Amino acid sequence: MKQLGFGMMRLPLLKEDDFTNIDYEQVNQMVDAYMDAGFNHFDTAFVYHEGAGEPAFKKCVVDRYPRDSFKIATKLPLFVITEESQLEPIFAEQLKNCGVDYFDYYMLHNVSGFTENAWKNVDLYSFIQKKKEEGFIRHIGISTHGNAEFLEEILFEHPELEFVLLQINYIDWEDESIESKKCFEVAKKYGKQVMIMEPYKGGFLADVPEEAEKIMKEYNPDRSVVSWAMRFVANLDADVVLTGASTLEQLESNIQEYNNADPLNDEELEILETVSEIINSNITVDCTKCRYCVDSCPEEIDISKLFDLYNKHKLLEKDDWTQFGNAYLNYSKLSGVGIASDCSECETCIEECPQQINIPEVLKDVAKTFETEIYGFTD
Ligand code: SF4
Ligand code: SF4
Repeated sequence: MKQLGFGMMRLPLLKEDDFTNIDYEQVNQMVDAYMDAGFNHFDTAFVYHEGAGEPAFKKCVVDRYPRDSFKIATKLPLFVITEESQLEPIFAEQLKNCGVDYFDYYMLHNVSGFTENAWKNVDLYSFIQKKKEEGFIRHIGISTHGNAEFLEEILFEHPELEFVLLQINYIDWEDESIESKKCFEVAKKYGKQVMIMEPYKGGFLADVPEEAEKIMKEYNPDRSVVSWAMRFVANLDADVVLTGASTLEQLESNIQEYNNADPLNDEELEILETVSEIINSNITVDCTKCRYCVDSCPEEIDISKLFDLYNKHKLLEKDDWTQFGNAYLNYSKLSGVGIASDCSECETCIEECPQQINIPEVLKDVAKTFETEIYGFTD
């Protein structure tokens, strides 16, 4: 069934910055609203919410709904795999975390070209195929942020894969480094089922610059900004559109936008090209807040949070430039976290970043902006 998917990557939290402290009560409400709307595809991963994501799925979905009423997709964390012997225990742990006997969809998480060196002697593809044959998985696939050439190589070498999870949204569609459109076409050429992630690009497309919003509203005052992003993806020939809501309100809005996603006309598609240009010229760091980098940082820098503050600061620079500087100052006072200038340039995080951001380089700008220019608390 073609449908809206419930991405469980950014669930509501009871305490800001504590990603394991999930607001289960609100997640329950979100799950109920989602199921009531007639959808049933949940997407999680071993690493989401620092390991608390799969257990949250169990608590809020499996423990409350019959197994045949929902589908679950989860992912094998390639970032931690270096040996064959790790596979069985991690897979068993995932089944237990999720409280299920089988996964409907199971994928290799973020096959990117970066992590392959670590697991080059581990046959991950055979492992997931074996688990499928044993009845623990219904469908096998990959999630990837790699380019079209990379994806084609994988799909050519692994005809057993049944689906791919791709980053697709209107701003990345023609982007030369992301190549959403080309990746989509490659997946279709190989006859694969396509699932879409990041339709709002980590929230960027829900909160576009004023100039872009004005163009959208002038064309159609009744349409919200996010409706343009949803209509773009919902009308592609894909099976699932995943959105990662962080509140009940966001989830309800996603459901409404999905249900009202009529196709964009040629004029609207042209408007989106202009909007994309405006957004691109305003985004300082292309971070989607996936947080894959955060666990790898020996200095415990919350890279995702600092990039978010930095982007917001850059957008508002002329109006209210201390607002995010103050947030940075508050962050710097937390115990057990590193600030931008703590970066040792070890480059571990770069390999984790699906958006291919040169994190240590950007952190130098973050440190310069928040630590030197605003508060001068570095030498
Ligand atoms: S390069 Fe900097 S931010 Fe990246 S992992 Fe190393 S210390 Fe952390
Ligand atoms: S810097 Fe890259 S890996 Fe880290 S949160 Fe942003 S997009 Fe994800």
